[in-house]
Amino acid sequence: MTIPFPRKKVSRAVAAEELAILERTYPHAVTALDYDSPFELLVAVILSAQCTDARVNLTTPYLFARYPDAASLARADQADIETIIKSCGFFRTKAKNIINAARGLVAEHGGAVPPDRESLEALSGVGRKTANVVMSVAFGEAAFAVDTHVFRVAHRLGLTLAATPRGVEDDVTKLVPREQWRHAHHWLILHGREVCKAPTPACERCPVTMCPSRPIVARARRAPKSASGRVRPDGRGAAAGRRPRSS
Ligand code: SF4
Repeated sequence: MTIPFPRKKVSRAVAAEELAILERTYPHAVTALDYDSPFELLVAVILSAQCTDARVNLTTPYLFARYPDAASLARADQADIETIIKSCGFFRTKAKNIINAARGLVAEHGGAVPPDRESLEALSGVGRKTANVVMSVAFGEAAFAVDTHVFRVAHRLGLTLAATPRGVEDDVTKLVPREQWRHAHHWLILHGREVCKAPTPACERCPVTMCPSRPIVARARRAPKSASGRVRPDGRGAAAGRRPRSS
């Protein structure tokens, strides 16, 4: 079932109420990735692209046992890394990226992970989302990462109409106090994983009663199905859920 996003943003007051409910619902939200150091977190986040955190957590213990730091990973044989991380998907690109990122850490930062955006984004395989996760989770910096769950839930809640992750980041960070940015990322991710799932949002057990997508979801559930089996959001036309364009 593809659910179209609301066409209007909610008011600032409603947005604040929605976010306050999520904060109360997920007061101890933290990353689901297992890590013991900024280096391990950086590698885990790169591996988590298009892959579940659970799968990454099954992979990284062996990877980090063999390559415990940037210096060892920088010297790794790519074929060995590919074998270890194969189940994470896109394993050739990811293997190249984590080795090159480790080489960047060794060459530019003495093997340590830098805490600032510019240095992080200069590393191989590190875009704005990965930099935001590392800055906020490893270093407690004010940063708001937008992944596929955050993008979807922010739209469904009417917090944004933006077509790109960067646009969503800009909209949501205007609604949340700066010191809460890193927590808000986890509220939205957890809500997306546990309740507001992509194909089937569980509105019936969702505490965000003022969500503007509630009637949209109800309409989509009542709508006739197209030949492809997808519910047409307006009961007539093609499904209209938007996917993020790259920033
Ligand atoms: S009411 Fe439904 S669409 Fe809105 S946030 Fe909750 S689960 Fe998602």
